[in-house]
Formats: sequence, C-alpha cells, structure tokens
Amino acid sequence: MRAILITKDDGYRAEVTDLAEADLPEGDVTVRVEYSTLNYKDSLAITGASPVVRSFPMVPGIDLAGVVESSESPEYAPGDRVVLNGWGVGETHWGGFAEKARLRAEWLIPLPAGLTARQAMALGTAGYTAMLCVLRLEELGVGPDAGEVLVTGAAGGVGGVAVSILAGRGHRVVASTGRPEHAGYLQQLGAAEIIDRSELSGAGRPLGKERWAGVVDSVGSHTLVNACAATRRDGVVAACGLAQGADLPGTVLPFILRGVTLAGVDSVYCPRPRRLAAWERLAREVNPAHLDLMTSEIGLEGVIAAAPEQLAGRTRGRLVVEVGG
Ligand code: NDP
Repeated sequence: MRAILITKDDGYRAEVTDLAEADLPEGDVTVRVEYSTLNYKDSLAITGASPVVRSFPMVPGIDLAGVVESSESPEYAPGDRVVLNGWGVGETHWGGFAEKARLRAEWLIPLPAGLTARQAMALGTAGYTAMLCVLRLEELGVGPDAGEVLVTGAAGGVGGVAVSILAGRGHRVVASTGRPEHAGYLQQLGAAEIIDRSELSGAGRPLGKERWAGVVDSVGSHTLVNACAATRRDGVVAACGLAQGADLPGTVLPFILRGVTLAGVDSVYCPRPRRLAAWERLAREVNPAHLDLMTSEIGLEGVIAAAPEQLAGRTRGRLVVEVGG
C-alpha cells in the first residue's frame, strides 16, 4: 500500500513509500482510505516543526474517510462508510495518509448522511473544529441577534468553515485575515466585513472598545488576547488554535470586568456524542458550494510539498488528499 512514512533514524524525514499491509498497527477495523486531508497539525507532523509525532516510524494523517474492508467489531461490517478524526491517530497510531488504516471501532463514526467521503474530508478536523466552536458560542448564548462575531485566521481551514457556518446562521461575520487578496473569497463565504489581522496581532490594551458578541479564534497569542479585550459584556470567545503562537500575553480584565467567557475547544479527544452532533450539524448546515470554493485537491506526493506552505500561511481554505478515492 502507498503511504507517507515519517522516520527519524537518519534525521527527520517524511516520504511517500510502499508499505506492507501486515505492518499496520493493531485495531479491530481495517479501512480502505479514500480521502484524507492536510490539517495544520499534519503539516507540523510532516515537517517536524513541532513534536506532534510521538512514535516512529509513523504514518501521519489525523483524518480519514473510507470504506470498511474487514471488521472484528459488531459495530461495523465490510462496506460501511466511515470517518475518523483525531484520537491521536497520525500522532501515536498510524493515520490517514495511506491506502489502508487499521483502527479501533470506538474512534470511528459512520459517514454522516448527506456527505460524500470527499466532502467529509473537505471539512475534516478543521471543519469539525469550526463547528465545535460554533456550538460553544451557541450554548453560551451567542445567537445571530447578539451582535457581530469575529473569525480570525479566516483564509485558513477552521476560519473559512467558521465564516461560512456563522454567516449561514444569520450572524454578521467580520473576518480577520493577513491576506487581503482573499477578501473576495471571504465575502463569497459570507463575511460582511474584512479586517487586516495586523489590527489584532500586536500587543494591545487590556480592555478595548466593546465590539464582538462572539469570536472564533484559530490564531492564539496577541490576536486572542486582543479579541478578548474587545469582546462585549457576557460575550464568548471560542479558542481552538495557535497559528500565531501558543502564548496568551494578556490580563484577566475582560473576564472579571465584562464577564467574557474564554471557551477552549479540543477536537482530538472530544467525546463521541458531541462529535456525532457536530458532524450532523455540518452535514445539515454547510453550504456545498462554499465547501467547493474552499477546497483544493492534492495527492499523497502533494502533501509533502504543501506542508511547509500551510505552516507559512500560504494555503487557502482546505486541502483534500485523494488517497484511493
Ligand atoms: P490553516 O493553516 O488552514 O489556517 C491558519 C490561518 O491562520 C492561516 O491561513 C492564516 O490566516 C492565519 N495565520 C497563520 N499564521 C499566522 C500568524 N503568524 N499570525 C496570525 N495569523 C496567522 O490551519 P487550520 O485552520 O487547519 O488550523 C488553525 C489552527 O487551529 C492551528 O493552530 C491548528 O493547530 C488549530 N486547530 C486546533 C484544533 C483543536 O482541536 N483545538 C483542531 C483543528 C485545528 P489568514 O491568512 O487569513 O490571516
């Protein structure tokens, strides 16, 4: 089977190679992978820019969609279509950048009704995380009438899906991007206004003018701090990413003087019922035309070239990886 393999014996290396199916790790369900996707975390794994991979050799790929080939679990039978996101796959257990994967049944969910395998991977962990962020805003009372919502890293994967979903739900969405050349694209996804990310990315004041009812932040660092500082009384900031940095150089003032909630979002070990709810909502709410607009397709060879581009913030939207579709 064709696969990307990361090794460390001779220096850190990722390359496309042929592997024997017998080398697949333990698990009770074997899946023929049709599509995977390149997420930010996959790019960290492929380049070795962060210690995402915990055991070697590793087949990366935190997401996959495909067809069950064999199963020792009563939950799945050959021919079932499934999706996998996270659970340490691509980090500690061989993942989606291979024609076959052997996995644990409890990690899988059925392909959501209404989505193709390719669409599920066009969304991938980035899209599912965007929906987890939207669910947090919603649960904490930020409805479409609450006021403007800010999406940071908007030309990226999480950002693009978040813009599309929130605009589709009737929010006035303000998209922050460092790439003004993508303003037209963001407007097509539903952004009402575009701001330059330099307005948010430098050191700011502990409290600013109240503007945002809600925020979806995939950037972290000063951007997240400034977003909190400009969030309205009782507003909610859903934080899921660190594209600018993992630091949080701010004060508690937005939380203790304005009742702002900072809601963390983790997709990797998110419990199954919440995953199923997020995917059901994605299947129902994501505009397929927006998804097409956001998505480019690459093959396994393309993954290795695209990873440093993604980390440099030069890829737009979502990258689907055609594995055996
Ligand atoms: P992408 O690379 O697709 O998007 C990231 C975007 O962040 C870029 O497109 C760019 O947007 C912006 N950006 C990049 N570098 C900087 C910088 N130095 N300063 C400010 N903005 C920057 O990644 P994803 O959307 O897939 O992931 C986004 C983040 O979310 C990552 O940190 C990822 O690890 C995290 N994540 C976390 C998950 C979780 O479970 N918590 C799950 C999924 C993702 P623009 O050009 O518009 O400015």
